Amino acid sequence: MKRLALILLSLTLVACSGDDSPQRIHQQIYVFGTLVDITIDGAERERAEAAISAIDADFQRMHREWHAWKPGPLSAANQAIAAGKSAVIPDSLIPIIEHSRGLETRSEGLFNPAIGGLLQLWGFQADTPPNGPPPSPESIARWVDSGPSMAQVHLDGNAISSSNPAVQLDFGAFAKGYAVDLAIERLQEMGIANAIVNAGGDLRAIGRAAGQRPWRVGVRHPQGKGVLAAIEVSGDEAVFTSGNYERYREHEGVRYMHILDPRSGMPVQGVTTVTVLHENGALADAAATALVVAGVEGWPHIAKRLGLKAAMLVDEEGIVHLTPAMHERLSFEGEPPTLDIVELD
Ligand code: AMP
Ligand code: MG
Repeated sequence: MKRLALILLSLTLVACSGDDSPQRIHQQIYVFGTLVDITIDGAERERAEAAISAIDADFQRMHREWHAWKPGPLSAANQAIAAGKSAVIPDSLIPIIEHSRGLETRSEGLFNPAIGGLLQLWGFQADTPPNGPPPSPESIARWVDSGPSMAQVHLDGNAISSSNPAVQLDFGAFAKGYAVDLAIERLQEMGIANAIVNAGGDLRAIGRAAGQRPWRVGVRHPQGKGVLAAIEVSGDEAVFTSGNYERYREHEGVRYMHILDPRSGMPVQGVTTVTVLHENGALADAAATALVVAGVEGWPHIAKRLGLKAAMLVDEEGIVHLTPAMHERLSFEGEPPTLDIVELD
């Protein structure tokens, strides 16, 4: 996947000294269709490497258990729901379902992980979305009328079912954030204080680089190469970006983007990217997607509902709409863009 909206600015990563002295350990894992960079500073090599292999194993398991359309427990659950039956799901999916249910409500349904049927209709449940004409207006209207929502998902222990056969779970807008949170938890449990887990540009950082200075990350310019702005993160913070330009299908010169508005069943237009800064990766990930759907007019309201302070939306004209808290944190690189600072209150 081409999700590289945020990149680590300083990539002079592997500065190794003696075998058990504090140092920087950097490793890449290929999972979730992207390269995940893990950087750990100031921990003994053995401990850091053990943490990275534990995270690797966790991530590979999550990828298998959480995939919406490739054969596995989630796609089996989706098939059962479509047939009006119940299915048994692994433990790891239960907190995801519960957590995303709350986020769907708080985003007023704009982030909707029961949207799998609509993604399927548009051909986005595929590694490469097919080109060709969009689905018929009737089929889209049928999906919208069927109104799938996480509120219709029932859990009884590990048994999942739904009163609505149109419910099809897809955690593509949020699983990466959730997984990054679990990785950070794993690092903290293993006594690692300074680290950054960067999943194809979406990341969460703890502590400080080399234990001393904030981690500096770059927000890639949506309309071309280079960096739009840099953000310094430290303590415990996540930065997630939803790019509405990365994945699309095309027909007769029209691009149909992969983020869909559950209210209309149609791809979102007018928004290029949204970046959210928050201490929780899962929330930042879901919120970034929800704000893309909310669009240029609606994003401040949804940002407030989700309890965000720092968020930024770049519209298709390149105008950067952002909260004062986000403005304070960004240093723009190159020619400054047109800014629209929006108070959330
Ligand atoms: P992200 O890159 O986190 O914004 O996630 C985008 C992915 O989320 C898409 O490729 C779809 O798989 C899925 N998706 C699209 N629209 C929605 C939506 N309104 N609510 C939840 N998931 C969505
Ligand atoms: Mg997201």
